[in-house]
Amino acid sequence: MTQYQYQETTKEDWIMTIIYIAAFVAIIIIGAIFLLPAHGYIWLILFVGSLFLLVRWHTKNFAYRCPKCGHEFEISTLTDFVSPHGLGKGGGWKYLKCPKCNRRSRATVIKKIKK
Ligand SMILES: [Zn+2]
Repeated sequence: MTQYQYQETTKEDWIMTIIYIAAFVAIIIIGAIFLLPAHGYIWLILFVGSLFLLVRWHTKNFAYRCPKCGHEFEISTLTDFVSPHGLGKGGGWKYLKCPKCNRRSRATVIKKIKK
């Protein structure tokens, strides 16, 4: 069914993620300087647009592993957007419901590799 393989995230993946987030923050701040307060709605479109691109990039490049049963799964951009997430000892995690065992837990972030 899936055309992807998964592997552990590396330091490079985290650097890329940080670069993307930094670029997003820069766009929002520079946009705010030039567009606010006169063109608030354009800035809002810019904000939502770049946030969507950022989250979509993350969804396309990363998947998750259930810590309870080991099942590896992908999530939608919307789920990626709304689910709580953070950093722990073992790397990044996201609070998700596993599609296999239906248990909610802090799923480990893993990288998607095209076969
Ligand atoms: Zn599971």
